[in-house]
Amino acid sequence: MQYLIPIHKDKQVKKMVWQPIDIPVFNAVDGVQYLEVYTVEQTLIECDICHKPVNTKKEEIERLPDLPLGYALFDNDILFKVVCENCRKERYANTPVFNNLSEAKQSLNIYHEACGR
Ligand SMILES: [Zn+2]
Repeated sequence: MQYLIPIHKDKQVKKMVWQPIDIPVFNAVDGVQYLEVYTVEQTLIECDICHKPVNTKKEEIERLPDLPLGYALFDNDILFKVVCENCRKERYANTPVFNNLSEAKQSLNIYHEACGR
Protein backbone atom coordinates (compact mmCIF):
# COMPACT_ATOMS: atom_id res chain seq x y z
CA MET A 1 0.00 0.00 0.00
CA GLN A 2 1.24 3.47 -0.90
CA TYR A 3 1.16 6.43 1.46
CA LEU A 4 2.77 9.84 1.89
CA ILE A 5 4.48 11.50 4.85
CA PRO A 6 5.40 15.20 4.91
CA ILE A 7 9.19 15.02 5.29
CA HIS A 8 9.44 17.80 7.88
CA LYS A 9 7.03 16.03 10.24
CA ASP A 10 9.04 12.85 10.88
CA LYS A 11 12.72 12.87 11.95
CA GLN A 12 13.27 9.33 10.71
CA VAL A 13 11.84 10.13 7.26
CA LYS A 14 13.91 13.32 7.10
CA LYS A 15 17.04 11.30 7.88
CA MET A 16 16.19 8.77 5.14
CA VAL A 17 15.67 11.52 2.57
CA TRP A 18 18.85 13.42 3.52
CA GLN A 19 21.05 10.31 3.56
CA PRO A 20 24.41 10.92 1.86
CA ILE A 21 24.65 9.48 -1.66
CA ASP A 22 27.36 7.01 -2.74
CA ILE A 23 28.75 7.73 -6.20
CA PRO A 24 30.85 4.96 -7.77
CA VAL A 25 33.67 6.21 -10.02
CA PHE A 26 36.05 4.16 -12.19
CA ASN A 27 39.65 5.30 -11.88
CA ALA A 28 42.88 4.04 -13.40
CA VAL A 29 46.44 4.21 -12.08
CA ASP A 30 49.26 2.83 -14.26
CA GLY A 31 46.70 1.09 -16.46
CA VAL A 32 45.04 -0.67 -13.54
CA GLN A 33 41.38 0.13 -13.24
CA TYR A 34 39.70 0.30 -9.88
CA LEU A 35 36.39 1.40 -8.52
CA GLU A 36 36.25 4.21 -6.01
CA VAL A 37 33.12 5.23 -4.13
CA TYR A 38 32.62 8.84 -3.09
CA THR A 39 30.11 9.67 -0.41
CA VAL A 40 28.47 13.02 -1.02
CA GLU A 41 26.29 15.01 1.35
CA GLN A 42 23.12 16.26 -0.33
CA THR A 43 22.69 20.03 -0.51
CA LEU A 44 19.04 20.05 -1.52
CA ILE A 45 16.18 17.65 -1.93
CA GLU A 46 14.13 17.85 -5.11
CA CYS A 47 10.84 16.42 -6.30
CA ASP A 48 11.43 13.19 -8.28
CA ILE A 49 8.68 14.18 -10.73
CA CYS A 50 9.18 17.90 -11.57
CA HIS A 51 12.76 18.19 -10.18
CA LYS A 52 12.04 21.40 -8.29
CA PRO A 53 13.49 21.81 -4.79
CA VAL A 54 11.19 20.99 -1.88
CA ASN A 55 10.90 22.00 1.74
CA THR A 56 11.95 19.29 4.17
CA LYS A 57 12.66 21.23 7.37
CA LYS A 58 10.33 22.99 9.80
CA GLU A 59 12.58 26.06 9.92
CA GLU A 60 12.57 26.35 6.09
CA ILE A 61 8.79 26.52 5.92
CA GLU A 62 8.81 29.92 7.62
CA ARG A 63 12.01 31.10 5.96
CA LEU A 64 11.11 29.96 2.41
CA PRO A 65 7.31 29.96 2.21
CA ASP A 66 7.29 29.78 -1.62
CA LEU A 67 9.11 26.44 -1.66
CA PRO A 68 6.54 23.61 -1.96
CA LEU A 69 6.35 21.05 0.86
CA GLY A 70 8.16 17.78 0.25
CA TYR A 71 6.48 14.43 0.83
CA ALA A 72 8.10 11.01 1.06
CA LEU A 73 6.16 8.46 -0.97
CA PHE A 74 6.31 4.99 0.56
CA ASP A 75 5.19 1.62 -0.69
CA ASN A 76 4.83 -0.34 2.55
CA ASP A 77 8.27 0.08 4.18
CA ILE A 78 10.11 1.34 1.12
CA LEU A 79 10.66 5.03 0.45
CA PHE A 80 10.79 5.24 -3.33
CA LYS A 81 10.09 8.84 -4.25
CA VAL A 82 10.11 12.42 -3.02
CA VAL A 83 7.12 14.37 -4.26
CA CYS A 84 6.39 18.11 -3.99
CA GLU A 85 3.03 19.48 -2.88
CA ASN A 86 2.01 20.34 -6.47
CA CYS A 87 2.84 16.89 -7.88
CA ARG A 88 1.17 15.26 -4.87
CA LYS A 89 -2.08 17.10 -5.63
CA GLU A 90 -1.80 16.29 -9.33
CA ARG A 91 -0.80 12.61 -9.18
CA TYR A 92 -1.35 11.33 -5.66
CA ALA A 93 -4.55 13.08 -4.62
CA ASN A 94 -6.05 9.74 -3.51
CA THR A 95 -2.95 8.49 -1.67
CA PRO A 96 -3.34 8.76 2.12
CA VAL A 97 -1.11 11.22 3.98
CA PHE A 98 0.10 10.35 7.48
CA ASN A 99 1.93 12.59 9.95
CA ASN A 100 4.68 10.06 10.64
CA LEU A 101 5.78 6.46 10.13
CA SER A 102 4.20 5.09 13.31
CA GLU A 103 0.83 6.58 12.38
CA ALA A 104 1.17 5.01 8.90
CA LYS A 105 2.11 1.61 10.34
CA GLN A 106 -0.82 1.63 12.75
CA SER A 107 -3.21 2.34 9.89
CA LEU A 108 -1.57 -0.29 7.67
CA ASN A 109 -1.98 -2.91 10.42
CA ILE A 110 -5.65 -2.04 10.61
CA TYR A 111 -5.94 -2.54 6.85
CA HIS A 112 -4.13 -5.87 7.12
CA GLU A 113 -6.52 -7.07 9.84
CA ALA A 114 -9.50 -5.93 7.81
CA CYS A 115 -8.45 -7.93 4.74
CA GLY A 116 -7.39 -10.95 6.82
CA ARG A 117 -3.68 -10.94 5.90
ZN1 LIG B 1 6.97 18.11 -8.16
